[in-house]
Formats: sequence, structure tokens, C-alpha cells
Amino acid sequence: MEFENKVALVTGAGSGIGKAAAVRLAAGGASVVVISRTLEEVERTRDEIEAKGGKALALDADVSLEEDVAKAVAATIERYGRLDIVVANAGINGVWAPIDDLKPDEWDKTIAVNLRGTYLTLHLAVPHLKKQGGSIIIVSSINGNRTFTSPGATAYSSTKAAQVAIAQQLALELGPDKIRVNAVCPGAIETQISDNTQSRNSEEAEIPVEFPEGDIPLTGGQPGKSEDVADLIAFLASDASRHVTGVPIYVDGGQSLLR
Ligand code: NAD
Repeated sequence: MEFENKVALVTGAGSGIGKAAAVRLAAGGASVVVISRTLEEVERTRDEIEAKGGKALALDADVSLEEDVAKAVAATIERYGRLDIVVANAGINGVWAPIDDLKPDEWDKTIAVNLRGTYLTLHLAVPHLKKQGGSIIIVSSINGNRTFTSPGATAYSSTKAAQVAIAQQLALELGPDKIRVNAVCPGAIETQISDNTQSRNSEEAEIPVEFPEGDIPLTGGQPGKSEDVADLIAFLASDASRHVTGVPIYVDGGQSLLR
């Protein structure tokens, strides 16, 4: 069991990539703390993990609120006594609109969940990782890093670029503490994220480009699955990646090379 005696905390573990990562890490023997805004959602993830013989603790916390994240980290330590792996995954697409239409509150919301949420998760988890070392995986995107082809996604792309900067900056800062920090950059993945997307007049910000058929070279155009990303997260969490830190890794079937 590659994660035996390890404790992992996964934010946004109620659906999609976070849920798949939690299930994957638990299958490898980790005790997994699954966090999301909605308790019901993560309780389902916990039940699924326990039904397969794994160990999990479900907690509700909004990653943009310091008090919520602090409580979740404290509950993790209280239950399992340590923390080795952190998957900072919770995120929303938010509002996609032309820059002169995007409202300050809409901008702030995306930044709060995706960027402040990542900061708070790491800010509060790192003191525990420092005790024995560990691995941090930040779920970024091809958006904001290799592609800029989602019209109106300025706030979203900004957060995703910043997350890669965080991974690189902290890889240096935390290297001496034996904490690795990497980012995964998924392309189109089938999840619930479209429920958290509001598009308004975004076509006005679009430059029409016709993509060839089979926009994702490896799959003939089909989006990836959350499990495709979860396997990469498991690699980055495991000892097999012990010399890998400060890198963004694309998991997109080649999509961002074409776009
Ligand atoms: P999803 O909507 O299926 O899951 C997101 C999870 O985060 C849910 O459990 C949701 O409840 C939780 N969440 C949302 N806001 C939260 C908050 N404030 N506090 C705590 N939990 C919160 O989405 P997904 O596609 O699995 O997205 C996960 C990550 O993957 C995001 O960071 C997203 O930017 C990134 N990503 C997704 C894709 C894709 O195509 N699906 C592509 C690139 C990157």
C-alpha cells in the first residue's frame, strides 16, 4: 500500500477531480479527509471510500474562509494526528464575461475560492507537513497557463496561472522541509464544474477559431475522466515522484498543444 500510514486532505472532494483523487488515495491506503462546502456531498465520498474498506473523514468547509479551513485542519489532526498529503483542488469557474461587463463582486468571488482558498489551505496545512515532510498537489488548469481560449474567463485564468506560480515559489521555500509542491493542469475533464459556471455575453470576448475535428488528440475529442487526473495526483503524492517538485504537469490528452 503506497500511502499506508499517510494522511491526506483533499479540498473540493464532493465531486469530479477532488472526489476521484480522494478515492484513489484511499485505495492506496491513505486516511483521507474530504472537504467541501456541502457536507452531504463529502459524506457520499466518505461512504464510497469506507464501502471499499478505506478510511475517511468528511468535513464541510468553505476554502475561502479562514475559520472554516482552520477548523478542518484542526479536526484532521485531532482525528489522525498528522498530515502528509494536501490536494488543493476546490475551485469554481465563476462568471465568464467580457472584462468591461465582469462585476467586481464576480471577480472577487472567483479569486476568493480559487486563489485565497489555495493560499488558506496551504497556509494552515504546511505547519503540520513541516513535521515530517510531505507532498502538496495544487489543481490548476491548462487555462491561464497554456491556453487562453475560454472567452471571458479572465478571473478564472488569473487564478489558475497564479496557482502554478504558488507551486513554483513554494517548491523552493519548502524544499528544505522535504515538502514537494507541484501543480496538475487538466484540460477538459467531465465533472460537475459547469454547474459553477455562469457565462454572460462571453461570445463578445471570443475570437472565432475553428478547431479541427478531434480537438483532444489522444481521445479523438472526448474529454478526460476525473480518474485520469486522480492517477497523476496519486503519482505526485507518492514516493515514485520523490525528486519532482515545482512543476506544472499537463493532463489533457494533448489538448493544450493544439490550442
Ligand atoms: P466540480 O464542480 O465537479 O468539483 C468541485 C468541488 O469543489 C465540489 O466538491 C464543490 O462543492 C467544491 N467547492 C466549490 N467551491 C468550494 C468552496 N468555496 N469551498 C470548498 N469546496 C468548494 O469541479 P472539478 O471539475 O472537479 O474541479 C476541480 C478543480 O479542477 C478546480 O480547481 C478546477 O478549476 C480544476 N479543473 C477542472 C477542469 C475540468 O474540465 N473539469 C479542467 C481544468 C481544471
